Amino acid sequence: MAFVKHDWTKLDPQVDALIRAGVPVSECAKRVGVDKNALHYRLRVRANRPQAPRRETREDRRRQNAEQRRESGVDRNCLRCQKAFVAPTRFIRRCPPCRAD
Ligand SMILES: [Zn+2]
Repeated sequence: MAFVKHDWTKLDPQVDALIRAGVPVSECAKRVGVDKNALHYRLRVRANRPQAPRRETREDRRRQNAEQRRESGVDRNCLRCQKAFVAPTRFIRRCPPCRAD
């Protein structure tokens, strides 16, 4: 259940007009009788922008690295014949011919 504090259908056009006239957001808020934080939030929601960019977590980086590895493979030297080859994952340590044996 959404708690609607302001009737934005009425306020949006008023705010838009003020902003177009070059009135700063905090001043717009005062004039239409809305808390300036609420108005900032409203403008952000309308612009469909996230509130704050989410910080990249260690998990994100791990996933990115894993994806990159999956795409590019891993440079390895075969444990058996020492030949260089590109392994599809870091768990592969022998070249395809040796693995086929
Ligand atoms: Zn090999």
